[in-house]
Amino acid sequence: MNFEDIGSGRLAASMFINGQWLDAGKHQTIDVENPANEQIIATIPEGTPDDADQALNAAKQAQVAWARQPAIERGKMVLALARAVIAHKDEYARLITLEQGKPLNQAYGEVGAVENFLRYAAENARRIEGDIIPSDNPNEEIHIRRVPRGVVVGLTAWNYPAALVARKLGPALVAGNAFVLLAHENTPLSGLFLARLADQVGLPKGLFNVVTGRGAVIGQAMVEHPITNLVTMTGSTLAGKKIFAAGAEELKVLHLELGGKAPFIVMEDADIDKAVDAAVIARYTNCGQICTCNERMYLHRAIADEFTEKFIAKSAALSIGDPMLNPDMGPKVSGLEVQKLDEMLQAGIDAGAEVLLKGGSLNDGQYEKGHWYAPTVLEVKDNQSPLIQNEVFGPIAPILRIDDFEQAIAMANDSKFGLSAYLFTKDISRLMRLPQDLKFGEIYFNRANGEQVQGFHSGWGHSGLGGEDGKYGFDGYLHKQTVYLSWD
Ligand code: NAD
Repeated sequence: MNFEDIGSGRLAASMFINGQWLDAGKHQTIDVENPANEQIIATIPEGTPDDADQALNAAKQAQVAWARQPAIERGKMVLALARAVIAHKDEYARLITLEQGKPLNQAYGEVGAVENFLRYAAENARRIEGDIIPSDNPNEEIHIRRVPRGVVVGLTAWNYPAALVARKLGPALVAGNAFVLLAHENTPLSGLFLARLADQVGLPKGLFNVVTGRGAVIGQAMVEHPITNLVTMTGSTLAGKKIFAAGAEELKVLHLELGGKAPFIVMEDADIDKAVDAAVIARYTNCGQICTCNERMYLHRAIADEFTEKFIAKSAALSIGDPMLNPDMGPKVSGLEVQKLDEMLQAGIDAGAEVLLKGGSLNDGQYEKGHWYAPTVLEVKDNQSPLIQNEVFGPIAPILRIDDFEQAIAMANDSKFGLSAYLFTKDISRLMRLPQDLKFGEIYFNRANGEQVQGFHSGWGHSGLGGEDGKYGFDGYLHKQTVYLSWD
């Protein structure tokens, strides 16, 4: 498939199954839009359960020989893919910006993350270790082996259409699995581009297949399919619950990386300028579309006025525009997402939130075409406000004043989500106490968001099951198998 002309015309994209590019043929198609100007840049086939079946069968067949290769050989292939990603970084970054809307410099950052995820996965090839445990019987050992799961299905969100794929693909392949990706219908091209690179570096056919279409149709068919051994999904809590239910009949192993509602706590002793800078980055990067974003700020009363004034000034100063020109913020990914934000904002105002910086959706002049949203800051009095309880996933920032640390912890925990959280303070006892008392999987002290490949990214509660990255994330792509080895 040819990505070179993208942006200047309409690319008729194909699915990639068993090493073959399969065009739409008799399939319906779905338009892929550039969110900055609403131009249709591509069409994708609307995949069916039959396509899912074909891709899963190809994966099943390819996986047997792949799993028998020494892990280091699998790692070398994934390393070659990481190198190809960097060799094509300009093309890749531009593609991400075209279909997703993030500023080009952030898209380059995403390409860097793709490389990092793949490299880290390749490094794990020599670390697939088991255990030998003494038996209670004479002449017997107990071996615990770590073996591939088999066929892994990847379902990913549109906010990081390249990095989220690499985060799953790299460890899945190095662990000896085959992979079938459903490329999100909003942003399918980044996943297809990675498949092309994988094909070019010689990854055997059938190991990385990419289907396109709608989650509720082809995605669900893959979750329910008997060939699927593991479903690793990153996306909304709502879809995660549907996948959980769909996987129940066949008792699928599920990794679900879901929504977040990160509390951002700033205490009276914090470095205010540092906290404000981090709050801006953590709220507005990628137009506020990150699961770890600063979604609700709890400010100690003693510093709330100063913080709020500085935060509003920085929010209002952010540039918004053509993502190819590296503004602070590009567009939201779709018109539907803008509509969702408008509705959430109104619900928050109806519930008593006071608007401090009126941003909202932008529709005039240079913003007539595209899906634009300006930073919006509100003061909220009640922790039950919908702006505090529901994931916003856009540049709307609610502030709530708190009296003390105990109240901040109680309010932060009063949420169904449990992904990431922030605390700004210089008090070591508060820093030590927070992880004890906070029911969240990832905590940032005195810094903005941005996880690293060797960490462990995991949501608690409605934020998910499973977890990605590091040795624990890698382990999720392996089964444990116990062998009782007896001899005389
Ligand atoms: P989404 O839930 O709509 O889609 C995610 C994936 O699931 C897509 O591939 C989609 O096609 C598929 N899907 C949807 N319904 C399905 C079904 N019934 N059966 C099978 N597959 C189905 O998510 P989105 O709107 O693309 O992403 C935004 C969400 O992702 C936000 O809530 C964000 O917080 C979350 N997210 C979480 C993380 C994390 O690591 N925890 C990272 C990025 C994004």
